[in-house]
Amino acid sequence: MTAKIIDGVAIAKKLRTGYAERVHALAPRGIVPGLAVIVVGDDPGSKVYVRNKVNACRDIGMRSRVHSFAHDCGEGEVLSCIRTLNEDPGIHGLIVQLPVPAAFDMRRILQSVSRAKDVDGFHLYNVGSLVFGQTIFPPCTPFGVQRLLECEGITVEGKNVVVVGASNIVGKPMAMMMLQKDATVTICHVKTRDLAQYTILADILIVAAGRPNLILPQMVKTGAVVIDVGINRLPDGRLVGDVDFEGVRQKASHITPVPGGVGPMTVTMLLQNTIAAAEREANSTPIESPDFHDFERAIA
Ligand code: NAD
Repeated sequence: MTAKIIDGVAIAKKLRTGYAERVHALAPRGIVPGLAVIVVGDDPGSKVYVRNKVNACRDIGMRSRVHSFAHDCGEGEVLSCIRTLNEDPGIHGLIVQLPVPAAFDMRRILQSVSRAKDVDGFHLYNVGSLVFGQTIFPPCTPFGVQRLLECEGITVEGKNVVVVGASNIVGKPMAMMMLQKDATVTICHVKTRDLAQYTILADILIVAAGRPNLILPQMVKTGAVVIDVGINRLPDGRLVGDVDFEGVRQKASHITPVPGGVGPMTVTMLLQNTIAAAEREANSTPIESPDFHDFERAIA
């Protein structure tokens, strides 16, 4: 068996065409979806990611604004900028590019973003909503994986989904989304003993560990769908995922390449979440549900 290669670039392009139409449809109501990105420090990776986000917004007619801070700025300055942007009616989505310098209280920073503009889905309210099955802003990378599966016509219900990686931004929300779609979900992480005993059972294997060649052909069931979220730069400069692509594609039914698989979908979902926030505003639909205050008390 040779796997079908899932073309994330083509799927992202098609979705973005649809998003441009949604942006266009808001114009007569005087609304242009706007994304603000806060960057602290000069992480070289962040610069590339932020540039991609800005260009993606521009290409579909959205506004974007980048607020950059030196790595040694005070946390108060950043919090004050977030508060201003929370109140800015021209901004519908607000994200803080990670990582922030180690001296910062990342949790406090993320919780200060208005939950109505939290298009990365990192605010506790949005994390809780995801757990309750009432997702408002699904975190972009797992959301991108979910959309890839949908676009390929791959159903999740009743399947064995194994997620390798349990980070707050990828692995855990990914597992939760698959659970919401009625999959039987297993989460593996760095302390999992004998990873292969779990991966071999996967109908859908989603890998987000940041370890090149972690997943070898003998760890994959014949006909499995393999989604490689990992991005690793090898010493020779090549960009690879976590999966032995050439080996595993001989066994899988579908596989994502790196680059060109999940990567383009992450920014695409950021656009989707920001447009959805602007549409919510246009339709005067607040995100608070009646049970919001119970929820907020529960997490206080
Ligand atoms: P992270 O370092 O925060 O988390 C890695 C997770 O993998 C942890 O839960 C850890 O326990 C697990 N892990 C590490 N080694 C393992 C091993 N040997 N066996 C099993 N589990 C192991 O990383 P992250 O932010 O979740 O990102 C994971 C990967 O996905 C990275 O390569 C990152 O660059 C990539 N990523 C890609 C996108 C994208 O848009 N394609 C977005 C975010 C992250």
